[in-house]
Amino acid sequence: MRIGSRVNLAPAEISALSQIVGDRLSTNESVLEQHGRDESAYPPVKPWAVLYPLDTQEVSQILAFCNSERIPVIAFGAGSSLEGHVLPIHGGISLDMTRMNKILEVMPADLMVRVEPGVHRMELNVRLAHEGLFFSVDPGADATLGGMAATGAAGTTTVRYGSMKDNVLAMTAVLADGTVINVGRGTRKLSAGYDLTRLIVGSEGTLAVITELTLKIYGIPEKMSAAAVRFATLEQGVRAAAAIVQMGVNVARCEYLDPLNIRNVNKNSGLTLPELPTLFFEFHGSAAGVAEDAQTVGEIVEEFGGFDFEWTTDESERRRLWQARHDSYWSAIRNNPGKRIVSTDMAVPLSVLGDAVAACNEILAAHRFPYGILGHVADGNFHCMVITDPTQPDELEEIREITSQMTSKIISMKGTCTGEHGIGLAKISALVEETGAAAVNVMRMIKKALDPNNILNPGKIMTEVE
Ligand SMILES: Cc1cc2nc3c(=O)[nH]c(=O)nc-3n(C[C@H](O)[C@H](O)[C@H](O)COP(=O)(O)OP(=O)(O)OC[C@H]3O[C@@H](n4cnc5c(N)ncnc54)[C@H](O)[C@@H]3O)c2cc1C
Repeated sequence: MRIGSRVNLAPAEISALSQIVGDRLSTNESVLEQHGRDESAYPPVKPWAVLYPLDTQEVSQILAFCNSERIPVIAFGAGSSLEGHVLPIHGGISLDMTRMNKILEVMPADLMVRVEPGVHRMELNVRLAHEGLFFSVDPGADATLGGMAATGAAGTTTVRYGSMKDNVLAMTAVLADGTVINVGRGTRKLSAGYDLTRLIVGSEGTLAVITELTLKIYGIPEKMSAAAVRFATLEQGVRAAAAIVQMGVNVARCEYLDPLNIRNVNKNSGLTLPELPTLFFEFHGSAAGVAEDAQTVGEIVEEFGGFDFEWTTDESERRRLWQARHDSYWSAIRNNPGKRIVSTDMAVPLSVLGDAVAACNEILAAHRFPYGILGHVADGNFHCMVITDPTQPDELEEIREITSQMTSKIISMKGTCTGEHGIGLAKISALVEETGAAAVNVMRMIKKALDPNNILNPGKIMTEVE
């Protein structure tokens, strides 16, 4: 499985890399350990060394050297990805981008910001808030913007503001041989040549290392309000969410949590929410606009059996209602000490969302693992969180089989095996099932053209380039 037969860096290679980054190269065991895992349930695989570049030029020099020596390079942001993305399964170095963490320029008049890839999204929003602005993509975890671009991240606000694919306008990136490219422009429209920005967004560190991003930003809305509504069944809840979008209601967030997730959050965060299938909403706009949107949603959910509709414009109440959604993943972890979560991600056309969630629920219920379902249902996107014991590796195999049953079902319903988490290691065969071998071969050709020695995050998205 290795590229060549090497199992580590030679002393001369460590010395050459140290000449580029000085003492920002570590082979300390705990640092290697930390960079050999992500938030997936895969067992860790340690890199040979971790390097912390400070600028584009250093990244370029590192890649040029690694390319000539055939050393795999895995870019690393916050390590919050969920499909084994950052695991150096062929060995190699981990390129930790978090010291490239400057917010380079805020451009309020253009509603744009220029950042280095190691800036964390929450930190960016603290800075932007001073100017009444915010960056919209919210994947739950406090990920880096480079990692978010590389995974094509989306999240709770995508229904209103789009994903990273919609919000990255331009970038600087370094190719495998060290060539620096600038792609995209700081314009709202662009029709100049192949769209290399969107090729790199979502490429999971397999085509280039991103060293700078120009992102769209937004004005903080005059008013934000929140609502929650309960349902007797999961299907009623997700069908209501689909109907709200189909009717063109302007929701900024619309999230579904099942009773298990609510129970976890109640236990962990001291809440007392009814343990029922629940939809949470957020509305952004003028005071009159958010009131009107909430009223329309209240009427629609009632038609689908929704009850106990709560609505508020009070800031602390809004936060309280949303706390359940924000805390759900970490609550599940805290309430299952020693266990891991396999969080699968699927998306379907809205018209089949209710059937898709019901089908996955049926598959999960037929197995022995505790699970919960939640998701960005207004995008037709949902996650099944399956609890596993990492000391029982056979469980992971079984869960992979369950995930594969669910993704096959979703693909047969014209959906996708991942709406936002990406392929990583876990969904390589699902990508072929979904897209077909011919399309995956085109991806291979692109990979081979940009990274002929296969040094950039090898073994992810697709099986080896021949
Ligand atoms: C609780 C929780 C909730 C989550 N919810 C969501 C969600 O709602 N939506 C969603 O999309 N994701 C979600 N995720 C997954 C995760 O947060 C995203 O995938 C995120 O975008 C990863 O960013 P990161 O900085 O952690 O990247 P990492 O995990 O460090 O890296 C991810 C990938 O990007 C590559 N990469 C990192 N930096 C660069 C760079 N500068 N240049 C090129 N490649 C790079 C890596 O090689 C790797 O392949 C969630 C994760 C958790 C733990």
